[in-house]
Amino acid sequence: MISIERLTKVYGSGPSATVVLDGLDFRVGTGEIFAVVGPSGAGKSTLAQCVNLLERPTSGSVVVNGENLSQLSERRLRVARRRIGTIFQSDGLYGRRTAAQNVALPLEYLGVTPAESRTRVAELLDRVGLSSRAAHYPHQLSGGQRQRVGIARALALRPSVLLSDEATSGLDPESTASIVRLLKELRDDLDLSILFITHEMDTVLQVADSVARLEHGRITESGRIVDLLRNPDSALGRSLRPARD
Ligand code: ATP
Ligand code: MG
Repeated sequence: MISIERLTKVYGSGPSATVVLDGLDFRVGTGEIFAVVGPSGAGKSTLAQCVNLLERPTSGSVVVNGENLSQLSERRLRVARRRIGTIFQSDGLYGRRTAAQNVALPLEYLGVTPAESRTRVAELLDRVGLSSRAAHYPHQLSGGQRQRVGIARALALRPSVLLSDEATSGLDPESTASIVRLLKELRDDLDLSILFITHEMDTVLQVADSVARLEHGRITESGRIVDLLRNPDSALGRSLRPARD
């Protein structure tokens, strides 16, 4: 479970200060996919950076399984960050490493023995449906497959939270659908809390249990998808409803 409390991020100071995130509050339950949607510049990527503490929030808290990560020292944060796996739009794979070697990277950094690492990597590649591609290099994989290798790598240290910033943006509908299926499986099998950031409404409808709309650094509406779809007064509900012919 991840809980975001009064999260604020201000860039700059004095008259040139920009409030990019303005007191956000939400929580992503265990076994829940929570989407954040919003237009370009709304603050979505800044939110992602603050959630995994690559950027320090100006104020407010990021609480994972009861521990407030925003107050930890850098040293303790490095350990705590293992609880959050992150995937981005660009898969961030190393071109000169095979799929298996890419997935093994976080384990290598941690000093896991090669034998243990091999077992774990095989398990992870199996989980994302890429056992047969272990020895392939990124350029030999499709965009969707590369993204799945990225997901396997993000899961290597057994995080309880998976953070995704536009991970399906730029993928074709079929690859997007396969990532969506995988994320739902992970939600159910591993009881992950998944924070899924995107600007694509149709993907939100496919993947998320709940959604919040971020505009100018504020959450303007949020709720469970089933409730929003039923509520005729909900702007989010209207924009989520599939267009009728
Ligand atoms: P997109 O959909 O285009 O990815 P976004 O919702 O992810 O947009 P952010 O990248 O979070 O938006 O940017 C939100 C605002 O914060 C923008 O106005 C941006 O200029 C500003 N911003 C982001 N990073 C910094 C920074 N390091 N310094 C100053 N301003 C920043
Ligand atoms: Mg962004």
